[in-house]
Amino acid sequence: MPELFIGGTWTAAVDGQVREIRCPADNTLVATVDEAGPKDAAAAISAAREAFDRGPWPRTPAAERGRLLLRVADLLERDKDALARAESLDTGKRLVESEYDMDDIANCFRYFGNLTAAGGTDRVVDAGSPEVDSRVVHEPVGVCALITPWNYPLLQTAWKVAPALGAGNTFVLKPSELTPHTCIILMRLLTEAGLPAGAANLILGAGPTAGAPLSEDPRVDLVSFTGGLATGRRIMAAAAPTVKKVALELGGKNPNIVFADADFDTAVDYALMAIFLHSGQVCSAGARLLVEDELHDRFVDELIARARRIRLGGPFDEDARTGPLISAEHRDKVEAYVAAGIAEGAVLRCGGARPDDPALKDGYYYPPTVLDECTPGMSVVTDESFGPVLTVERFRTEDEAIGLANDTVYGLAGAVWTQDTGKGQRVAARMRAGTVWINDFHPYVPQAEWGGMKQSGFGRELGPAGLAEYQEAKHIWRNLAATPQRWFE
Ligand code: NAD
Repeated sequence: MPELFIGGTWTAAVDGQVREIRCPADNTLVATVDEAGPKDAAAAISAAREAFDRGPWPRTPAAERGRLLLRVADLLERDKDALARAESLDTGKRLVESEYDMDDIANCFRYFGNLTAAGGTDRVVDAGSPEVDSRVVHEPVGVCALITPWNYPLLQTAWKVAPALGAGNTFVLKPSELTPHTCIILMRLLTEAGLPAGAANLILGAGPTAGAPLSEDPRVDLVSFTGGLATGRRIMAAAAPTVKKVALELGGKNPNIVFADADFDTAVDYALMAIFLHSGQVCSAGARLLVEDELHDRFVDELIARARRIRLGGPFDEDARTGPLISAEHRDKVEAYVAAGIAEGAVLRCGGARPDDPALKDGYYYPPTVLDECTPGMSVVTDESFGPVLTVERFRTEDEAIGLANDTVYGLAGAVWTQDTGKGQRVAARMRAGTVWINDFHPYVPQAEWGGMKQSGFGRELGPAGLAEYQEAKHIWRNLAATPQRWFE
């Protein structure tokens, strides 16, 4: 069956292009899928436009839209095993992590289903006269282009698809060309749940050919993008001539501040998880460890001892604790950052070379790597390498810690570790990031907004603001006693 989904029909690419999807854990062929180009993108936009302008979905009552999202959540749970397996084959991530993702994805649909069904965003406004009925209603934005990355393929997609549909929009989804399979399955589940044809459209393919037309086309009303900073800038520029709404969820270079009074064992444990989960391919990864000077030596020694024990392996290896990088190119990039860091004076304390285990030779593995004695301005400190690379910097005072934490163009997430409640609150308040954890790392819930400050982007996903991104507020003023005003007499 072809893999592009346009106007309710599974279809092949107009130009007959296909792409091989390979598992990064061992380079085996997962499948060959259709590869869309500009003509397919245009057809998908036409279908979404038609469905928005004349189809039933935007006119479906909110309660019914909410119920559909709840049905999708049930279907995601029913098919969790197949979805998790598909996600792991495309990404190389551990099966257990994909299973967690699928639970989160079902929860996301459930949250937006309930939020949509509850309604309540429209409101009556006091216009200062009993003869005026003044209301603010919330309408869908229109045709949404949803562009997503490879690290959490279905999770990042769910954060967009659920609120977009909840608000009554139609969409064209373009997932990463490297990881299409769970998005293909999602289209089937949306159809099974009863979504009308044309409301959801899927094109697969490369960013410049399949993705770029979505930002440029005047028939698209909104682009919601999750991915890298450079691509985000391109999308914003491409969307400017048609002044479409843009939401950008970009990268991060997230600080993890550890004060000397932190619970030692817990802070070491979480520092490892913060950066090495999914081999560092997490937008909120705690890639910059900032440790109070007096704790530094003991903390880093212990961290390295434990990092060396992290076992690499494929998605179905139950003993593995982290998997491969997504591609050969990505591993080259990570390696180059490590080399640059060492050249700039960082001290390599563990990792830093491809594993020599023959069982891993066909995958794109790179070991947990710690670069100590890093300083501001090193490229490995400032740029998002998006790999299992932890840089360590020292600080002496609270002010210095905050200065280092905020010394980045990014502002996605960060954490602070201390047993002093006041200090934790003070530092959290001064960190310029969309999410701050105190004595924790990585948790999120669909009820709370997620997004970046500074060059980590703008707009919010999840939470009530995550739904509002996909809504337009419209003020309707009804004069109940209109009489001539004789303004010009
Ligand atoms: P990427 O920017 O290379 O690609 C993301 C998506 O954009 C892909 O679907 C790609 O095909 C598409 N794309 C590329 N060029 C395009 C163009 N010109 N027009 C339209 N679409 C285009 O990012 P990636 O490597 O897939 O993902 C990793 C990045 O994503 C990291 O920087 C990471 O921090 C970020 N990310 C951010 C969040 C967040 O919540 N802020 C979440 C996950 C990932």
